[in-house]
Amino acid sequence: MFSDELEKISWEETTKAIYSKTDADVRRALGKKEHLDVNDFMALISPAATPYLEVMARLSQKYTMERFGKTISMFVPLYITNSCTNSCVYCGFHISNPMKRTILTEEEIINEYKAIKRLAPFENLLLVTGENPAAAGVPYIARALDLAKPYFSNLQIEVMPLKAEEYKELTHHGLNGVICFQETYNKANYKKYHPRGMKSKFEWRVLIGLEEWRTDVTMMAYHLRYLQKHYWKTKYSVNFPRMRPSENDGFQPNVIMNDRELAQLTFAMRIFDHDVDISYSTRESAEIRNHMATLGVTTMSAESKTEPGGYYSYPQTLEQFHVSDERKAIEVERDLRKLGREPVWKDWDQSFDFKR
Ligand code: SF4
Repeated sequence: MFSDELEKISWEETTKAIYSKTDADVRRALGKKEHLDVNDFMALISPAATPYLEVMARLSQKYTMERFGKTISMFVPLYITNSCTNSCVYCGFHISNPMKRTILTEEEIINEYKAIKRLAPFENLLLVTGENPAAAGVPYIARALDLAKPYFSNLQIEVMPLKAEEYKELTHHGLNGVICFQETYNKANYKKYHPRGMKSKFEWRVLIGLEEWRTDVTMMAYHLRYLQKHYWKTKYSVNFPRMRPSENDGFQPNVIMNDRELAQLTFAMRIFDHDVDISYSTRESAEIRNHMATLGVTTMSAESKTEPGGYYSYPQTLEQFHVSDERKAIEVERDLRKLGREPVWKDWDQSFDFKR
C-alpha cells in the first residue's frame, strides 16, 4: 500500500529538498522530454522555478495539445446528502454544525437529474455525499447510481472510502470512476483537521490550504507514480482544490496559494505527467479557469451547486462551500469555444462498460 511507502518519505526532508532546488535543477527538469521523476517535479514547483513560468506554460500547453487536443471534458457534481458523521474542521458539513441535514429521497434525486439535464447536456455525473455510512451508505449510493443511468452515461462518486468489494458492488450499478481526497499527506498534523469519525484515520484517506502545498503535492506526485506502477490500466485525474469559505467560517486556511502558484503547479504537473487529467472546479474563478483552459487543464465542472437539492430548487439547504465561478453551464461552454476549446459533454457510453 502507498501508506507503507509514505512512511519512508520524510515530510521535513522533502520540504527542505524542494526549497533547496536551484536554477540548474529547474533547467535540467525542463530539458527532459519524457519520464520526469519526482525530483524533477520538486524543482518545477520550487521557488527556483518562478522565473520560468512562461517557459513552463508553453511546455504545458504543448503536452496538453499532444495528448488531449483542444478538448475540455465537462462534468457536474451532485450532492445527494450533506449528512456527515465526521468533523473536518475546514468543512461546512461537519457534524457539529447545527444546520439542517438532508438525505435526498429517490424522487428528489430524480428531480435533481432532470434539473441538471435542463442546464446543459451533461453526461458526466459526479455523485457526492458526506460520510454517514449508516444512513447513506453503499445501498443508498447504489440506488442513486441505478436512478442516474437513464440520464447520464458516465457515473463517478466522491464518497467515503469504501472497501474493495464495495467498490466492486457499485460497478454493478454503473460506477465508472472514484474521486477520493487525501486532504493532506502530513500524517503528524492530519488528526488536527480530522478530530473524529472515520476520516480521523489517516490510512483511510489534497486540499490546498491545510499544510505547505509544495510538500503535499510532492507526496501526491509520489502517490500518482505508485498508482500508475501498480494499477496501470486505470486513468488518473488530479485536481488542486484551494480552500474556499464555507459555513464553518471559523476555520481559515493555514497556507494561501496565490494564482501564480496554482498556475505553476498546474504547468509542473502537466510537464511531469503528460497523460494525467487535470481538473479545475468552480472553486476557481471564471478568469483563472478561462486562462488555464488553454494551458493544461482538461476537465471542468460548471454551474455547480454544493448543497443537496440545489439544482431543482435553489437555494434550499446548507452548502459545503461557496463556489467562485457562478457562470451558467452554457456560458462556460460559450467562453471555452471563444477560447478555441472544444467542450465535450459526452466521452463515454454505457455500452463500453465492462459487462459482468
Ligand atoms: S469534508 Fe467530507 S467527511 Fe469531512 S465533514 Fe465535510 S463532508 Fe464530512
